[in-house]
Amino acid sequence: MTIEISYGAAEVVTGSCHFVKFDDGTKALIDCGMFQGLDEWKNYEPLGFNAKEIDYLLVTHGHLDHVGRIPLLYKEGFRGKIIATAATFELMKIVLLDTAHLMQEDFETAFRKAQRRGEEDLVKKPLYTKRDVKAALKLPRRVVKYGQNIKLSPNIAVRYKDAGHIIGSAFLEIEYKDDGVHKKVIFSGDLGNRQVHLNPPPTDPTSARHLFIESTYGDRLHKNYEESVKEFKEAIMMTLKRGGNVLIPSFAIERTQQILCILKEMSDHRELPPHTEVYLDSPMAIKTTHVYQKYRHLLSDYCKHQPAPFDFPHLRFATSTNASKRINAKKSGNIIIAGSGMCNGGRILHHFKHRIWDPKNSVIFVGYQAEGTLGRDIIEGARFIEIYGERIAIRAKIFTINGFSAHADQNELTSWAGKVHGLEKIFLIHGEEDKQQVFKKHLIKTLHKKVHIVKQGEIIHL
Ligand SMILES: [Zn+2]
Repeated sequence: MTIEISYGAAEVVTGSCHFVKFDDGTKALIDCGMFQGLDEWKNYEPLGFNAKEIDYLLVTHGHLDHVGRIPLLYKEGFRGKIIATAATFELMKIVLLDTAHLMQEDFETAFRKAQRRGEEDLVKKPLYTKRDVKAALKLPRRVVKYGQNIKLSPNIAVRYKDAGHIIGSAFLEIEYKDDGVHKKVIFSGDLGNRQVHLNPPPTDPTSARHLFIESTYGDRLHKNYEESVKEFKEAIMMTLKRGGNVLIPSFAIERTQQILCILKEMSDHRELPPHTEVYLDSPMAIKTTHVYQKYRHLLSDYCKHQPAPFDFPHLRFATSTNASKRINAKKSGNIIIAGSGMCNGGRILHHFKHRIWDPKNSVIFVGYQAEGTLGRDIIEGARFIEIYGERIAIRAKIFTINGFSAHADQNELTSWAGKVHGLEKIFLIHGEEDKQQVFKKHLIKTLHKKVHIVKQGEIIHL
């Protein structure tokens, strides 16, 4: 008997973690991601299974909500093999080291404050440290190429195929024997948005009885990408023409490279004024861009034939804190890309402090802003923000560009699922419950399949 139990990304988007126990006793985990936002507290809960018994960790891609708890898994005794693409292993390292660093910083700040109240014992220790990350990264690993057949046991084989979501991202096709019967299941990981030029579209799936599919945007259609690019370019041109600067809060993985691609196109077509300087002011985004450059053969046809798809004469990397501070002295004609993507930390804050009060400047939001973040406050029309204890007026023009999502929308998810031959049942994971209800109805109506919304901890027989 083969069973699946989801310990994360069940009726929520984050914390991806799916456990499969195969008929022959092999135990695999698909992703071990961090819970984020309102579900962050769940990271401190027990994993729900015995980490020591897991034979394989199959990682779909390098986003934090898919890899963020791997060091915790190691701390809990996991000593099995990690299987992922080469690009995913590199992103995983960047993401985990950055996360350990941020958690340590947060802990030290909270500890200092608590000490003054005499409550330092109440401060939660970081989930893991850089040392745990380094130990987890030394676990046995298998680097896979798309399409390669990997045997997990004489009865189980897995194939990674391009999910087109971020560089190195994959969906998994797993073939196994269950009570002598040959079966197949697909785990979609996160599926990419076909409209975006950076990655190739997701590879078509083959056949499977069961499909576990993400449903982040199962309830909606994305805005047209070309129109969004046009809006983005217009916002930049308008700002530069009036002698202002453009601030772009951006996620380090994927969104930043998407933005660099568009800016490069503007540079190639001489749409940027000659003296414009584009600053990528985020060490993590810079490292990630190097990974994208290194594995550019995996990118879309549009990008992979360029020797340097993310480089152009206007671009400057600000790695050190001093290099970042020097940008403040630049008066006008600058485009500054910095993290964090939702403005709840990172270097974007000091750029806000220096520039968001000036009506000549603009802030362009290119990614989702979760509730409770500074980014959300700004797009919802806040007139003042508080940064480092200082009240700052928002007089810069605020733009929100919506069509840059790295996830497939309802139509794309449905048509991809519709390509799976011999499908008996669809299991919805990685989505908010209300959106999953909409997607479920849509799938039943269009594909005429059984659809089930996976609950955390429920046992599913495969
Ligand atoms: Zn993702």
